[in-house]
Amino acid sequence: MTRGLNASPGAAVGQIVFDADTAAERGKAGDAVVLVRWETTPDDIHGLVVAQGVLTAHGGMTSHAAVVARGMGKPCVAGAGDLVIDAAARTLTIGGHVLTEDDTITLDGSTGDVYVGALDLVPPQITDDFREVLGWADDVRRLGVRANADTGPDAVKARELGAEGIGLCRTEHMFMAVDRLPAVRRMILATDAAARQAALDELLPMQQADFEEIFEAMTGLPVTIRLIDPPLHEFLPDLVEQSLLVQRLEAAAAPSSSDDDGALAAARSLLAHVKRLHEQNPMLGTRGVRLSLLYPEICVMQTRAIVRAALAVLGRGFDPHVEIMVPLVGFAEELRRMREVIVETADKEVAAADRALDYTVGTMIELPRAALTADKIAEHADFFSFGTNDLTQTAVGISRDDAEGSFLAAYLEAGIVPANPFASIDAEGVAELVRIGVDKGRSLKPGLKTGVCGEHGGDPASIAILDKIGLDYVSCSPYRVPLARLAAARTTLDG
Ligand code: PEP
Ligand code: MG
Repeated sequence: MTRGLNASPGAAVGQIVFDADTAAERGKAGDAVVLVRWETTPDDIHGLVVAQGVLTAHGGMTSHAAVVARGMGKPCVAGAGDLVIDAAARTLTIGGHVLTEDDTITLDGSTGDVYVGALDLVPPQITDDFREVLGWADDVRRLGVRANADTGPDAVKARELGAEGIGLCRTEHMFMAVDRLPAVRRMILATDAAARQAALDELLPMQQADFEEIFEAMTGLPVTIRLIDPPLHEFLPDLVEQSLLVQRLEAAAAPSSSDDDGALAAARSLLAHVKRLHEQNPMLGTRGVRLSLLYPEICVMQTRAIVRAALAVLGRGFDPHVEIMVPLVGFAEELRRMREVIVETADKEVAAADRALDYTVGTMIELPRAALTADKIAEHADFFSFGTNDLTQTAVGISRDDAEGSFLAAYLEAGIVPANPFASIDAEGVAELVRIGVDKGRSLKPGLKTGVCGEHGGDPASIAILDKIGLDYVSCSPYRVPLARLAAARTTLDG
């Protein structure tokens, strides 16, 4: 029918659904459904969880749909720009085909192909031969392989597939679960410190429980937990949708009710918050460490949850290796201040428990300025993890959310760029920044532990380049771990 980006491998067959609520409802009822959206957002997570696969018209290899699907091991075809989705009429038009929710499609996430109808699927098999070959790879490779995993079950899967730890646990994914979003929204919408703290107090035990599961699954192996990264508006409704809701409620309201209509007042208040947090370039806005410096209480809550979880599992005989990571640092001073908050909070927790707990504090290196000043940043970091998704976006100046559906496809076809830089690392530019970052970091701290946790960590061509730079490990979604182990061995053998 069409072809998009091969954003997450595997194949899926299912009936089309156009929204996450229907996907969740039908998926739970046992129907095989494929979620078809212009793009997905954190609000769609409950639909993604039960869908067989996801197809989007917009977004690239690091779009929400692509990253979440890869993390879940679900097939995803992203940025299939020919799709015309009419969510209101519930139709999908492509070429001559007009499909509705009664129609079945098949996705091949390994090629990006989309088919009308149900193709036969072959289940993947992890055989003894497969295990043996991977064992040979492990004997040979220098580069460590970790997984990006955000939940206990993902951590278990990652370990089964040979991950030697977690290189990236995106804690905000825990905020996006349907049962937590109300508390997250209360935290964001709080107008005073007491209300914000009350919402954070609600979130703390939930985060702690998640971390406990992860530490247990990864006992004896390192777990890098990253503090909240995305801008807060990502947890609120979309600006356009909320504006429309307010308009609809205004139109429906009786003239006398106007402002004191409860639903309308609430919708208007939420819209005001959405507008306040709206940014023209949210990827370059109030996110990462900037957010935690503005709202240190979020970082305090997360640090407490991490340390309490580690102490709890320690008490149950597990062996947690805690690495706390700060995202989007550009200035050494940001990390210095953030580290102070983390260490003060963590040490208080450890002292209160009257136990010993080792932990380290490191940073993502995902801005060119961070790579270029890595010697200064290293002063406050126990480890570096290169976020090559953002590093690519900011070094090449190409939006990771938009470009793959627009000019980048034309660039690739015309041979202006040799490969999609979000899938395979740009050897001359972005990889060079990684090399500079590693060298500068180690110039201050010889032996500084360094890894890559961007999507390139699971790409064989990128692994060959990153291995030569001398990184300690790559980290990728659990299902790409076997491929990364093989690729790491091959690059060692190639010399
Ligand atoms: C990155 O930027 O490479 C990264 C791993 O972080 P995220 O994709 O969550 O921005
Ligand atoms: Mg990033």
